[in-house]
Amino acid sequence: VSDLAGRQVTVAGLGVSGVPAARALRGLGASVTVVNGSDGEPQRAQAAELEPLGITVRLGDGETLPEGTELIVTTPGWKPTSPLFLAAAEAGVPIWGDVELAWRLRGADAPPWLAVTGTNGKTTTVRMLAAILEAAGLRTAAVGNIGVSLLDIVLGDEPYDVLAVELSSYQLHWAPSLRAHSGAVLNLAPDHLDWHGSMAAYAADKGRIYEGNQVACVYNVADPATEDLVRAADVEEGCRAIGFTLGTPGPSQLGVVEDILVDRAFVADREKQAQELAEVSDVNPPAPHNIANALAAAALARAFGVPPRAVRDGLRAFRPDPHRVEHVADVGGVAYVDDSKATNTHAAEASLGAYEHIVWIAGGLAKGATFDELVLTAVKRLRGVVLIGADRALIGEALARHAADVPVVDLDRTDTGAMAAAVREAARLARPGDTVLMAPACASMDMFTNYNKRGDAFAAAVHDLASGRVPDD
Ligand code: ADP
Repeated sequence: VSDLAGRQVTVAGLGVSGVPAARALRGLGASVTVVNGSDGEPQRAQAAELEPLGITVRLGDGETLPEGTELIVTTPGWKPTSPLFLAAAEAGVPIWGDVELAWRLRGADAPPWLAVTGTNGKTTTVRMLAAILEAAGLRTAAVGNIGVSLLDIVLGDEPYDVLAVELSSYQLHWAPSLRAHSGAVLNLAPDHLDWHGSMAAYAADKGRIYEGNQVACVYNVADPATEDLVRAADVEEGCRAIGFTLGTPGPSQLGVVEDILVDRAFVADREKQAQELAEVSDVNPPAPHNIANALAAAALARAFGVPPRAVRDGLRAFRPDPHRVEHVADVGGVAYVDDSKATNTHAAEASLGAYEHIVWIAGGLAKGATFDELVLTAVKRLRGVVLIGADRALIGEALARHAADVPVVDLDRTDTGAMAAAVREAARLARPGDTVLMAPACASMDMFTNYNKRGDAFAAAVHDLASGRVPDD
């Protein structure tokens, strides 16, 4: 810690991660310059907050390396190919992310980290894990990419026994010295490739979560790429590879046997082959992808020594965050489900796999994705489709290729009122017993500020439908 006193540190970026990092560094006695490419109202307000602390803020130039920089601390938005980083590499200046900084600043008696990454399911798994740890009577918090700054936790006064840490691929990229107690990669599907440059680079960054693990590297048996990452990692002696599977578990795995979550990896009783943990119905909601999340959380908790009963109690206590396969209401025998957080095809595939007969509301910003595979896996379950958003034609074309018999309503709209119209169209297509599933497989920013707002618009439209109100649009 004292290392940073008097050092010249450049923070790349303001915002929710840059501002706290700059403050913390200044608090440690570093000489801090924050650089930010844009120079608008919000940036000036943040600069005005930092400057009285003796922090230099340079707006309008995020590219040149401030003279004398000894260390860069970066926020997640900055690509590895940014000119600032190229200049830093040339000058031999190290680059840390906020996680690396927090890791290095943690005290000697700091709690161990149980870390989770993956393309989808991170937030859910970390919350389940925290619920399980709490049920075991441990002092813990769900932190990291979930929206709670690790730096705040590490520098704060609150004592913890263990932390449930969500890490993004960006954070892992810039966290070279992180050594978790145990880590999990839930799954790997193409996402954020524009940032990482390639699928291989993205996977390698995710795999960093296993480096130096002490007790367990948790991987997804159904996703062999995650197991490959375990094999490639350099871990502490005695650290084990632990798989999770929706099928019958092998030795060193957690899985499902006759609707019971069972653990064959951490069985204390030598007489027993497997330890029962919880029932599938304890998982909320008990959709396959979510059972996988629960097994991953259970594996990390068991690696930390949590007893089976706490796994069950924690899973029962867990409440999912909004907009993640959230049941909004039943109207006329039709269930309306908000999966606005399904912002990529891999996530949408999971929720589309969880229902029998679906009217699917889809579309938004595709971020370069293709939809053929998704449509092919879902086609048998589709009662109908309602398309909205900027890139809806891409989904429409995939439907025309592989699901020609499925009725499709193309709303040809990108205004916010389109969601209410989509819900009304979906209600027309649905039959009692069906599910209307808003799992857009796309980002929301063409129509909404974020996925929360998109989910709220859906829920409001469903409630209007339930009360018989037809809003003007
Ligand atoms: P993340 O934090 O990784 O974005 P969330 O837990 O917020 O993950 O879930 C995001 C979306 O991904 C959910 O809406 C759901 O549709 C989907 N999802 C959740 N868990 C999984 C999983 N294990 N595999 C595939 N998709 C998942």
